[in-house]
Amino acid sequence: IALKKKKKRRKEKLYFLSLPQYPTEPPDCLVDFPVQFAVSWMPQDSLIDIYNQFLAALESLKEFWNAMDEIDGKTWVLEPENPTRSATTRRIAIGNNVSVNVEVDPRHPNMLPECYFLGADHVVNPLRIKLNNNLHLWDPEISLLQNLKDLLEMDFPSRAVLEKSDFTKDCGICYAYRLAGTTPDQVCDDPRCGQPFHQACLYEWLQGLPSSRQSFNVIFGECPYCNK
Ligand SMILES: [Zn+2]
Ligand SMILES: [Zn+2]
Repeated sequence: IALKKKKKRRKEKLYFLSLPQYPTEPPDCLVDFPVQFAVSWMPQDSLIDIYNQFLAALESLKEFWNAMDEIDGKTWVLEPENPTRSATTRRIAIGNNVSVNVEVDPRHPNMLPECYFLGADHVVNPLRIKLNNNLHLWDPEISLLQNLKDLLEMDFPSRAVLEKSDFTKDCGICYAYRLAGTTPDQVCDDPRCGQPFHQACLYEWLQGLPSSRQSFNVIFGECPYCNK
């Protein structure tokens, strides 16, 4: 059985997978939520009661989904490729070979999400400093995306003006963009180069070079492109 609540653009679904002990125990439910959907159940309850709990859960997640929809609609999200309703992270393009990965708390979507930057050090370090210096500017009354822009003192590349291909530069080693579900997120630190690589490709490449140094699980070596 699948009960759906249709909205203008999206469909939230509730599936009743099986009813083994029904009505002593509730049916197994499947939902695409970023949080657990725990059903409270009395033997005299009906499926309508679960549906009503489902509606209440939808309501409680509305703010989270609105925040994610704004990000998906207005920015170039590099990862995940097709976010599900339960996905709480987004890697957002903020420039050439620079992106920020945000992990949003579905229960507190208006609080500062966990952020980390991907890109060359000389681009990423100033962004980290801005974010830390501007933490006090975070305003739970305005949207998550607007807060991120305010804290980073920048506008994100807009979907209206730029193409996704402007940010999805292929790996300098395997010449592909997607490799086993990963994208090239390791970037050469030399400002004149900035070539991105897959972590796996770069690791394999550097391991084969006698000039590379390894310390714990970090490997240092020359960029395959510019030899820096
Ligand atoms: Zn590669
Ligand atoms: Zn390089």
